[in-house]
Amino acid sequence: MSEINRAVKGTNDILPDKSYRYRFVENEMLKTADLYGFKEIRVPVFEHTEVFSRNVGEDTDVVQKEMYTFEDKGGRSITLRPELTAGVVRSVIERGIINGALPAKVCYVGGCYRYEKPQAGRLREFHQFGVECFGAASPSADAEIIALARQILLSLGVKGITLKINSIGCKECRRNYVEALKEYFEKFKETLCGTCNERLNRNPLRILDCKSPICHEIAEKAPVITDFLCDDCKAHFTAVKDSLSAQGITYEVDPRIVRGLDYYNRTVFEFVSGHIGAQSTVCGGGRYDGLVAKMGGTDTPALGFAIGIERLMMLLENTEAPFPEDTKCVLYVAAMGDKAQIRAGGVCAAMRDAGIAAQCDLCGRGLKAQMKYADKIGAAYTTVLGDNELESGKATVKDMKTGETYACDINEIPDKITELSLKSALRSLEDSVLSNG
Ligand code: ATP
Ligand code: MG
Repeated sequence: MSEINRAVKGTNDILPDKSYRYRFVENEMLKTADLYGFKEIRVPVFEHTEVFSRNVGEDTDVVQKEMYTFEDKGGRSITLRPELTAGVVRSVIERGIINGALPAKVCYVGGCYRYEKPQAGRLREFHQFGVECFGAASPSADAEIIALARQILLSLGVKGITLKINSIGCKECRRNYVEALKEYFEKFKETLCGTCNERLNRNPLRILDCKSPICHEIAEKAPVITDFLCDDCKAHFTAVKDSLSAQGITYEVDPRIVRGLDYYNRTVFEFVSGHIGAQSTVCGGGRYDGLVAKMGGTDTPALGFAIGIERLMMLLENTEAPFPEDTKCVLYVAAMGDKAQIRAGGVCAAMRDAGIAAQCDLCGRGLKAQMKYADKIGAAYTTVLGDNELESGKATVKDMKTGETYACDINEIPDKITELSLKSALRSLEDSVLSNG
């Protein structure tokens, strides 16, 4: 196959047999977020490059290696969003949301683009669901968004996830910490990877997030931020932990979590799973109090998280979480002969007007092939129209599960199917009530 017939490396097609699962998951996430007052925001897939380069952080992997940046025909430097937070912050400032009622709560679903080495759970186009909350400085806001992330994951049937939290303090706490880190990593200057060597003087915090196994091992024994927190940051972190405990949310404090983006301060957190291989973080988030001011808005505290949808799907599928079934064809109208074919089209139209999914032959196939197709698409009912049916105006509808048949006028097929579907739904409801005692 030539290159142009192949999807770009690191991209995925979500095919019709799976897309309904994505739609279900995304809708559930939006519904759960709505319970907390988060309303959907839609922002562009691309922004001016500085929106990301300045705010995600010049020294981060994302900005240094992973951005899809290009010049547009007007000579502007444009970047496909590697994440949504920076674009959302740009939007809430530009559109005045930040000057309206606070806290302002928004959520989003959308594609992200990062030039990474593709592997399981790491794509070049992937999707995130996320939330951002603006104007809430209180630790109860941190606890609320963590509770929301957790409720989203649990309500979808995710099992075996661990919540890891940390505080990376404020600028003041980090000043001393960064000095301690520099001193520590200086000793391993020869062993650290090339990128981390450069980071040593500019941004040693980033070394903690390096994916190289050698740097990772060295980072394991580095000083921890929690030993450097100022009194205010310590009190904030304690209050977050107390709020989580009060809500029965268990967590592990992991002083090594710093997150991969530069804008975070104080609380950072991740939900990790042992069921999806090496890329184990399904959800990452935290506080970013300085970002709104840095991007030119009124100084406004803020926080949020993002869930990687592909990783979440992998987790759901690997743990056999329950998905509802996709909607199936309710009635397949088979036809024998040209006249019957035209009538079948009419029956389908009436069915669809009544809001019921129906299909008929579009390929000029014989009856046997039509019935085979009806079976493949899982039609719940079928009917066959031929010369006899057209003459008498009567048809027989067959329940494909039970094999039972029902006679009715061709004109009344939509009513008959509605009646049969309702009865069958009622029966399964009764069955499930009985089997649940
Ligand atoms: P990682 O450490 O795995 O590279 P990250 O720190 O870069 O993650 P964030 O930028 O915080 O991740 O993105 C939030 C979530 O988006 C991640 O927890 C993950 O679930 C998902 N994610 C990030 N990068 C990718 C990718 N390349 N492919 C698929 N999902 C991704
Ligand atoms: Mg990354």
